Amino acid sequence: MKPIVKFATGSIFVGLAVLALKFLAARVSGSAALFSDALESLVNVAASALALYALIAGAKPADRQHPYGHAKVELLSAVATGALILVAAVLILERAYWAIRHLSPHAGLAGGLGLGLFLNAMAGVVNFVWAVVLRGVSRRGRSPALAADSQHLFTDVLTTIGIIIGLSAALLFRLPVLDPLIAICIALEIAFSGGMTVLKSLSGLLDEAPPPAVTTRIQDLVRSHAAGALEAHDFRTRQAGPASFLEFHLVVPGGMTVAAAHEICDRIEAALKAEMPGVVITIHVEPDGKAKHEGVLVL
Ligand code: ZN
Ligand code: ZN
Repeated sequence: MKPIVKFATGSIFVGLAVLALKFLAARVSGSAALFSDALESLVNVAASALALYALIAGAKPADRQHPYGHAKVELLSAVATGALILVAAVLILERAYWAIRHLSPHAGLAGGLGLGLFLNAMAGVVNFVWAVVLRGVSRRGRSPALAADSQHLFTDVLTTIGIIIGLSAALLFRLPVLDPLIAICIALEIAFSGGMTVLKSLSGLLDEAPPPAVTTRIQDLVRSHAAGALEAHDFRTRQAGPASFLEFHLVVPGGMTVAAAHEICDRIEAALKAEMPGVVITIHVEPDGKAKHEGVLVL
């Protein structure tokens, strides 16, 4: 098993343990805030499982049915994760609304709150330790997926600390309304992050253009390796996870032989591939009458 797959699997098991602790905490305390924390954990486990699936399925090479590879599985799984987060936010809001309707200084935040807070704190400690482990691994192996996972766990720990402080205050000052208010804050926070995840991934699925710096670099490389050609235009790049696809038109003198034009193409392709490993390049060759006098002018 590749180390990244091993740690991604580990994340799921740690997530399940944390989830069990947090649901127990919500159960014994009847707290809406602890319930929201538990639901967030449930989403985390689902997200880890989807990420692991994407890691394995996305790495499969292109086949007859999917000639462009499977890298977009990663984006699809991110969209699914974002949708799950939005569902969790709705469930939390519903629970908070219920808690507000049934607010009473005696009920709701029952005697189990102390135990609930303790269990939640234990879950926070487990999360923290695993986040530190993942950060170490991701630094050594330079894995963005594990780094993101670790970063996410650290914010989870902060949320847990915030909840514990808020609920302690609710207990101390006899303010049961703090409980659903904290839950609502968490729901809004995760709804925002879920929405952003969905939007970003959808943009990727729609073949979003690369950042301008990448486009400029590509055109510079073409310019400096296209000696003999006249112009390059109609650049299009799309990205699917780690794979990228580049196509453009190359204008050459009309009398040039196919062999000579092909040689220029090979030279450009070699230069681009040296800098962008795994890029798939398609070049459409045109005679000088097709020049648009835009894009990259070689002469
Ligand atoms: Zn053209
Ligand atoms: Zn060729």
